Amino acid sequence: MTVPKSHPRYESLRIREMLSAGFLSGAVALEGVMAHGRGEALDYILGEETPTTSKAAARAAAATLLLSSYPVISVNGNVAALCSREIVNLSCVSSSKIEVNLFYDSMQRRRIIIGMLRRAGAREVLGLEKTSVIEGFESARRMTSYDGIYKADTVIVPLEDGDRTQSLVDMGKKVITIDLNPLSRTARTASITIVDNIVRALPLLASYCREMKSYDTKQLEEIVEFDNMINLKECVQHIKEGLKDSYA
Ligand code: ATP
Repeated sequence: MTVPKSHPRYESLRIREMLSAGFLSGAVALEGVMAHGRGEALDYILGEETPTTSKAAARAAAATLLLSSYPVISVNGNVAALCSREIVNLSCVSSSKIEVNLFYDSMQRRRIIIGMLRRAGAREVLGLEKTSVIEGFESARRMTSYDGIYKADTVIVPLEDGDRTQSLVDMGKKVITIDLNPLSRTARTASITIVDNIVRALPLLASYCREMKSYDTKQLEEIVEFDNMINLKECVQHIKEGLKDSYA
């Protein structure tokens, strides 16, 4: 890292360097670098902090994972470049499987990303071979592993596109997303949307899973009672108030 730790934008620049390294290694698509730029802009507006509304969403997501019988985490290049270790941690505390699933798909990228996750400690990563199709959209993401996303009752789809989210919901799955854009199609379509930077959201989600492991089913079911649309509206309200205050 060439940027000094004392730099006021150190964290943001550190994340950019991780993404650049991911791009140079072949894990991140060029389009993924651009998608990160949109995320960064929204994070700036959020004040680079997890809003209270997103903490409530993360609690509901953790309870949902713990109540699920077959949860799966879908990983793309950006997610692997920024958070491989955190994905492995979350998979351990929530007993979730990990599947690599890419919009800009190639066998080579799948292999590179699987390698990153394995080096981060993953024992099993699905998605090298894909045999099952999710109907309802055309992109490469429709091809999945039968023992992964296809069979899952709950899927975590961070940094997602809206088409697949809708199809997964249509299949009756619970869909949890992490997306800095509360206005995206994914955010509006998912069962639970955590509006936050993935680098903050994944450790938070894992810590809630750890905390709630001792809860009984009734307690978890109470936390799962969650209205995504109301939560998103409150999040947008939080953004509006933050913007108003910034030049008050
Ligand atoms: P949709 O189809 O849901 O409307 P989109 O096509 O606008 O989504 P993509 O181009 O697929 O969005 O980008 C994925 C999303 O990931 C964007 O909404 C972007 O804000 C978000 N994003 C990018 N980087 C991060 C990050 N580090 N943490 C959380 N979200 C991020």
